[in-house]
Amino acid sequence: MTISRADCAALDAADPLRHLRDEFVLPEGTVYLVGNSLGAPPKGAAAAVTRVVAEEWGGRLVGAWNADGWFDLPVSTGDRLAPLIGAGPGQVVVGDTTSIAIVKAVSAALRLRPGRRVIVSDLDNFPTDRYMVQGLAGALGGHEIRDVRGTEGLDAALAGGDVACVLLSEVDYRTGNRHDTAEVTARVQAAGALMVWDLCHSAGAYRVDVSPADFAVGCTYKYLNGGPGSPAFVYVHPRHHADAEHILTGWHGHAAPFAFEPGYRPAEGVRRFAVSTPHVLSFAALNASLDVWERADLAEVRAKSVALTSLFIDLVEELCAPYGLGLVTSRDPERRGSQVSFTHPEGYPVMRALIDRGVQGDFRAPDILRFGFAPLYIRHVDVHDAAVTLAEVLEKEHWRDERYMRRLAVT
Ligand SMILES: *Cc1c(COP(=O)(O)O)cnc(C)c1O
Repeated sequence: MTISRADCAALDAADPLRHLRDEFVLPEGTVYLVGNSLGAPPKGAAAAVTRVVAEEWGGRLVGAWNADGWFDLPVSTGDRLAPLIGAGPGQVVVGDTTSIAIVKAVSAALRLRPGRRVIVSDLDNFPTDRYMVQGLAGALGGHEIRDVRGTEGLDAALAGGDVACVLLSEVDYRTGNRHDTAEVTARVQAAGALMVWDLCHSAGAYRVDVSPADFAVGCTYKYLNGGPGSPAFVYVHPRHHADAEHILTGWHGHAAPFAFEPGYRPAEGVRRFAVSTPHVLSFAALNASLDVWERADLAEVRAKSVALTSLFIDLVEELCAPYGLGLVTSRDPERRGSQVSFTHPEGYPVMRALIDRGVQGDFRAPDILRFGFAPLYIRHVDVHDAAVTLAEVLEKEHWRDERYMRRLAVT
């Protein structure tokens, strides 16, 4: 083999991020390569939630809204998250879910382009991104959705001069491939349209540069390790702060929420993208994760992500060559996130057999095996063990066991 397990252990010993793995709860004997779907819990999360329940909620009751800064959590947490996506203070608001954030960002974009009626949507995007836009267009009436596939067909879609906004994901959830966001954003904006990026599979995988975008959204429970159902984020470029108005005009985005006025007036700045009462307990877990992120050098995070994903591609291609896997993720590290995907005609039972042997990845229809490499806690030895175990499952055909054929509800 090109690289031994001992070589991998030596790389781990020299890894500048190695101490951060100790900050996470990871079950013994599991190689967890699903941090791109649900990040592992930071050790501080349980204590943070307990503290909020016992001291803030339990100690100050309703007074905690003022005393413990609960009301400002969407903007204060947004400011802490901002550096991870290349944004500045006062540009990110945290709350709700990604699906809801999409409605906020896209509806605001549509209102900024009132003469244009077309929303460009990607057939390969995560389905909820498409469904939310479809629901929005249906409710507004008069808007048309124009489908592209990735950036294929984008120039033709923009040519008519009638596109209000384009919604794409920076990193494709199935293939792990990454768009050149600066180039695509420039093309969209040159056509007079606004660019909305979904950063669900980017934030925490590497330092995102959101700055050219008009709007961006993303979730915090994947690479950002905020916990199941942790709140999403919306980024709004400062050039739109004065004029951007979305349709979910809840009281927490009001200019004077405690004046209880009968009519809606948007708050100044990005705060108007807050909607309603924040999920305070979820914010506690997310902020515990941001405590860890504040200690991570993002250049080191990226270097490690490239090393892990490249190593996995090399090892799998070497060990699994005869068994019908097809690499769908780019070999160029610049063109991928922190995930590697392979196709296999029996992808579902292969993944189930692999999980039974202690390596957790996941499966996405129709035939994709996904492996996410969260750089804060995945080691080179994990990559090695995952590739060796995958090769065993394929060589010995463990996946043929009929237990693995029946589909579970969540794949
Ligand atoms: C994970 C993910 C979502 C999840 O949306 P929720 O509203 O949090 O359920 C949406 N879009 C993309 C691209 C994702 O990867």
